Amino acid sequence: MKQPPSSASPLSIAIDGPSASGKSSLSRAVARSLGWVHADTGSLYRAVAYALDQGNMSHAKESELCDYLLKREIRYAVLEGSTHVLLDGEDVTDRLRREETGREASRVSQIPCVRERLYKVQREIGCRGKVVMDGRDIGTVILPEATLKIFLVADPRVRAERRYLELLQKGVKTNPEEVLADITQRDENDRTRSLAPLIQAPDALVLDNSEMTIEESVQWILRKLPH
Ligand code: C5P
Repeated sequence: MKQPPSSASPLSIAIDGPSASGKSSLSRAVARSLGWVHADTGSLYRAVAYALDQGNMSHAKESELCDYLLKREIRYAVLEGSTHVLLDGEDVTDRLRREETGREASRVSQIPCVRERLYKVQREIGCRGKVVMDGRDIGTVILPEATLKIFLVADPRVRAERRYLELLQKGVKTNPEEVLADITQRDENDRTRSLAPLIQAPDALVLDNSEMTIEESVQWILRKLPH
């Protein structure tokens, strides 16, 4: 249910946008400069994909998959200002960055019980306040009362190049064309799904960071934050 922003709402910044638009790095940098917490919500969907893979449940019937997830505990822990994901108490954050995990996360994020389950985890941290949360539906569904909403965009080629360099650094062999195709497919899935699609909230400000450094983007956001 949409709630109007109110001065009583906990302070929060919602940053939504397509894959590889730089949401996580930017959100982390904004949170750091404010002394707030950065909540990466994509990691929760990735943790679901990871859990399902561990249990050989990735392609199970929806009802079985939902039952299986009830047996797994997924929660956030905050370490040095950023969220980590604990799966049955184990910190799996560093195991979630693979491209296949991202693709699977995008697929399972369309299942209603997955979104319902993760809604609570995200609301809980959002309601604590002083949080910069990034994802796809933060300004529209998770924190409709956010103090400031940003819709982050960047040229698809710039995004593909950034993701390609990131993968290269991690030693993952790929090529820019493959990365661009993957990003385009994921955007298409996220934009056209019926549940919580990636759309700009009516009260979100668009930031195109194609030609901006992270520091310039941080300063742009800080200037928009109501005092
Ligand atoms: O942001 P990241 O690439 O880690 O997210 C992985 C996938 O999780 C996305 O492609 C998207 O399908 C899903 N997701 C979502 N809602 C969010 C965050 C991520 O549906 N708030």
